[in-house]
Amino acid sequence: MEDNRIYLSLSQESGFEAEYIQNSLKTNWITSGGPNVNEFENVLQDYFDKKTYVTALNSGTSAIHLALIVLGVEEDDEVICQSLTFAASANPILYQKATPVFIDSEEETWNICPESLEIAIKDRIRKGKKPKAIIAVHLYGMPYKVNEIHAIADNYGIPIIEDSAEALGSKYKGEKCGSLGSIGILSFNGNKIITTSSGGALVSNYKEVKDKAIFYATHSKDKAIHYQHSKVGYNYRMSNICGGIGLGQMKILEENITSRRSNHFFYKDIFKEIKNAELFDNLNEDFFSNYWLNAILLETKEFREKLRVAFDNANIESRPLWKPMHLQPLFEKYPYYGNTVSEKLFEKGLCLPSGSNLSKKDKSRIKEVIINFFK
Ligand SMILES: *Cc1c(COP(=O)(O)O)cnc(C)c1O
Repeated sequence: MEDNRIYLSLSQESGFEAEYIQNSLKTNWITSGGPNVNEFENVLQDYFDKKTYVTALNSGTSAIHLALIVLGVEEDDEVICQSLTFAASANPILYQKATPVFIDSEEETWNICPESLEIAIKDRIRKGKKPKAIIAVHLYGMPYKVNEIHAIADNYGIPIIEDSAEALGSKYKGEKCGSLGSIGILSFNGNKIITTSSGGALVSNYKEVKDKAIFYATHSKDKAIHYQHSKVGYNYRMSNICGGIGLGQMKILEENITSRRSNHFFYKDIFKEIKNAELFDNLNEDFFSNYWLNAILLETKEFREKLRVAFDNANIESRPLWKPMHLQPLFEKYPYYGNTVSEKLFEKGLCLPSGSNLSKKDKSRIKEVIINFFK
C-alpha cells in the first residue's frame, strides 16, 4: 500500500471547534459577526501583551485591503511592498487603483531590504510622490529586520502594514509579530499556523482604527435608522461560525508553535551534515520564528527541481519559494528597487513539509528522501 501524502502545511484540530460551531447553530447565531467573533477578538487581544485592538475579518487579504483604506490609500497613490511574498500582500494595492512599488529582499531574513527600501523612498519622493504605506512581510514566520525597517519608515513618516499572515507566534526582540507596525494583519487560512477555515484580522493600537475597520467591513453604514451610506462598503466581517473555530484553535496555538519549531530543529539536525544545501535559519536571538514553513537553498535551480521530484516520488509535497511579485506578469510593469536576491532565492529555494501534525513516521520518510538524495 502506498504511503499517505505528506503535505507542506495542514491544519490541526484542537477538538473544541465542533462545540463552538454547535453552539452557534443552537443559538441561531449563524451570522456575520456575533458573540464568537467578539470573544475570538478578546482572546487575540489578550494574546498580544501590548494594548491592542483586534478586528476579525473574513480573510487576511481583506485585512490588508482595509489597512490600506484606513491609511487613506487612494487612486494613483504609491504603496511600497516586499517583492518576495504571496500575491495577497500586493493585490489589495491594485484594488485601490494605487501603484505598487516593489522592494528586493536581503539575504539574512529573506525579507524587505533596508538599503533598497531607503533608496526607493528617496527616489519616489524625488519623482514627486511620497509612498503612502509600506507593506513588510515576516515571510515563512521569520521576522523582518524590524528595527532597521521601522527606523526608515519613521524617518520619512510612512506607516508600516506588518503582514504577519505567516507569523502569528513569531517575535522580534521578544515582542510579538503582528503588533509591531502601524497596522498588523493576520491570516487564519487553512494552511496557516491556526485556521478559521478562512479568516484574518487587523491589529492596531488604536480603538479608532478598529472602529473604522468594522465600519468598512460591514457595508459602511452611516448612523441612521434606515440604511444610509456615504462611503463604499465591504462585506469583510468574520462569520460567527468561523469565530467559533478560531476560539477552538487558539487553545492549541502554543502547541502548534512548539511543534513547528521542533520541525525546524529536526531539519537542522539533518542539514548540519549536508554541505550542498542550507537550511533557512534565524540570524540571531533577536529573531524568534514560528517556523511556519521550513525552507532550504540548493546550489542550482536544476538541483532544487531534482529534489522536489524525489520528494514527489515518495508522495511528499515540497514547493519552490514564492515567486517575487516584480517577476509576475501581473506586476512586472511596476517600479522595482533592488538587485537579484529575491530572484535567486526563488530559483534555489525549496519549502519542506512543516505542518504542526507531522508524525514520527512522516519525519522518517522525509529524512530518508533527503539522506538518499544527498548521499
Ligand atoms: C496567506 C497570506 C496572506 C493572505 O491571507 P488570506 O487569509 O489567505 O487572505 C497574505 N500575506 C501572506 C504573506 C500570506 O501568506
